[in-house]
Amino acid sequence: MAKVLVLGGGFGGVVAAERLAEQLGDEHQITLVSRSRQFVFYPSLVKLAFGKCETKDVSFDLRHAMLDRRVNFIEAEVARIDPSARKVAIAHGEVEGILPYDYLVFALGRRLATERISGFYDHAHHLLNLDKALKFGKALANFHEGHAVIGQCDGTRLPVPVYETALALSRLLEEKGERDRVQITVVSPNELGAEFEDPEAAAALDKTFAARQIQFVSNFAVEAITQNSVATGNGRTIAHDLLMLLPPFRGSSAASHTGITNDEGYINVDLAMRVLGQERVYAAGDCVNFSGPKMGHMATRQAEVAARNLAAEIDGREPVARYVHELKLVIDEAGSDNIYLYKEIGNEGPAIIKRGRFWSLAKRAQQELWQLSHV
Ligand SMILES: Cc1cc2nc3c(=O)[nH]c(=O)nc-3n(C[C@H](O)[C@H](O)[C@H](O)COP(=O)(O)OP(=O)(O)OC[C@H]3O[C@@H](n4cnc5c(N)ncnc54)[C@H](O)[C@@H]3O)c2cc1C
Repeated sequence: MAKVLVLGGGFGGVVAAERLAEQLGDEHQITLVSRSRQFVFYPSLVKLAFGKCETKDVSFDLRHAMLDRRVNFIEAEVARIDPSARKVAIAHGEVEGILPYDYLVFALGRRLATERISGFYDHAHHLLNLDKALKFGKALANFHEGHAVIGQCDGTRLPVPVYETALALSRLLEEKGERDRVQITVVSPNELGAEFEDPEAAAALDKTFAARQIQFVSNFAVEAITQNSVATGNGRTIAHDLLMLLPPFRGSSAASHTGITNDEGYINVDLAMRVLGQERVYAAGDCVNFSGPKMGHMATRQAEVAARNLAAEIDGREPVARYVHELKLVIDEAGSDNIYLYKEIGNEGPAIIKRGRFWSLAKRAQQELWQLSHV
């Protein structure tokens, strides 16, 4: 019998645990550990902030969902992993102390490095969890005029909700008849759409922003925030009346000091999703060291590959599944001009770009399907 520990109750951890339960015999024990028993469908948090759905539509109880799938669930905070001793230290929660394992899947996501931006905690909104999205939603409801600044920092690695927030805000203000009272500016350390490494993608975004009179300020790496302004390290400043800024990301601190991460704390893996230099340890999701944006569909695919290879390793078979690093996303503009983009990262060829109302519906259907299959 093998004891498999899966750390993290996001897309990466949940999909890894589910696939392992499907592929491993009943004699093996699968345990999922996460700090909260609530799963959150992050890609819908922009909709939640703008009042287009409710908390119950974008979250479910993990313990219940896992019960049906032969996965034990432990609600607890992981302090650190010790791959050489095959142990995980738990800080607090339903269990405390040390959890031993035979095989590990690390899927603890990324850390929000808000401490790197002075004034972030006091003066910026973000929407990277349920509470913050709801709080931003309240600020939106009370915002009727002035300058809205929406943006990402150096190292954020998540452009989609930034673009979606600016577009949704423009729509909301139009609906309320207040659009001409508000200036919307998107700030970024990069050029518009640079994260997608494709000129056509950048042009599509540029066209959409121009149609909505959204200003884009590039090469603007926010380093300090006050109640009324955001500033770069070299003294450029923009005044704001409402600020939604995504902070820099870093890898999970539970893996730091283990020698398995790069300088930003992301875990080094091969394309079989095995952690480099370690035996019996796999990783998937935002926590791993791949280039470009960090996205849910990547976490899901990486988790499927990790689970297949881990199940093969336990059964004494060759681990043959390989991860292909590609971008597949929808920028939902809250109307009829949504953008779908597909691109294999590192491939010089052009991205596939499509536009239209359908893509918003497709994104929503994906959320509903995920929700339906877990409640
Ligand atoms: C607002 C928003 C919009 C997005 N839009 C899109 C989109 O349109 N398309 C797309 O593909 N992707 C999108 N993403 C990105 C996508 O949601 C992430 O890439 C995905 O959630 C990563 O999954 P993960 O399992 O690696 O990490 P996470 O989802 O972050 O899960 C990590 C889990 O580990 C738990 N955890 C972390 N640390 C500890 C610890 N120390 N102890 C115990 N538990 C811990 C967390 O509570 C969480 O349950 C969006 C994300 C956000 C926030």
